Amino acid sequence: MKFDIITIFPEVLKEYFDSSILGRARKSGAIKIRFHDLRKYATGKHKKVDDRPFGGGPGMVLKIEPIAKSISKIKSKISRPHRQRSVAGAANLENSKIIIFSPSGKQFTQKMARDWAKKYDNIIMICGRYEGVDARVKKIFSAEEISIGPYVLTGGELPAAVVADAVSRQIPGVLGKEESLEEERGLSGFPIYTRPEIFEFKGKKYSISKILKSGDHKKINTWRSARSKKLF
Ligand code: SAH
Repeated sequence: MKFDIITIFPEVLKEYFDSSILGRARKSGAIKIRFHDLRKYATGKHKKVDDRPFGGGPGMVLKIEPIAKSISKIKSKISRPHRQRSVAGAANLENSKIIIFSPSGKQFTQKMARDWAKKYDNIIMICGRYEGVDARVKKIFSAEEISIGPYVLTGGELPAAVVADAVSRQIPGVLGKEESLEEERGLSGFPIYTRPEIFEFKGKKYSISKILKSGDHKKINTWRSARSKKLF
């Protein structure tokens, strides 16, 4: 799975995707994440990426030209990975999805993360800023508007990170042996503990259930299922 993130702040997400499980997955090649600096595609005398909205109103709008240029470049890389147009290469575009982040878009869910991981090879994400993205981008590139939740953020970078993270976890080879998918494990949300067995805080002792130290896996499973919560 390859993620292409189009943003005017490419540096803000890099560290996150270089760390921990996702950093490891990038190194192993299980996932690829590329950041595209929208400012590099700015055109015109003033190299502007944003402009005032037609019809008036507060805030700026991300211009269509730099976004269109950036998408075209990404798409040409997808369909000609080795600078060679082949039938197999062209088919890759069909397995691509383009997302525009918007608080009024379709709510992103775990099911979407799972489905997209199976269905697509490339996910291109456009991070809005200010008042959002020129609406023609959605139409021309058949992009889907996605929201990560019912609240308004200052930009689409965190939503892009949320989607890339949730989808990546579903890609085989991304989670190690010890971290497995909740939905396959069946149990989720039960309390978990690690050492020390007894923790003392302000004169009070906090211990763990003896069952968890019993080594009896049947009993442990029963204990855990009784405390499990439905994931969604
Ligand atoms: N005034 C705009 C909101 C702009 S928020 C409106 O009413 O739609 C600025 C940008 O942040 C958006 O373009 C979008 O890319 C991103 N954003 C903010 N909240 C988001 C959310 N809940 N889900 C996904 N993207 C969001």
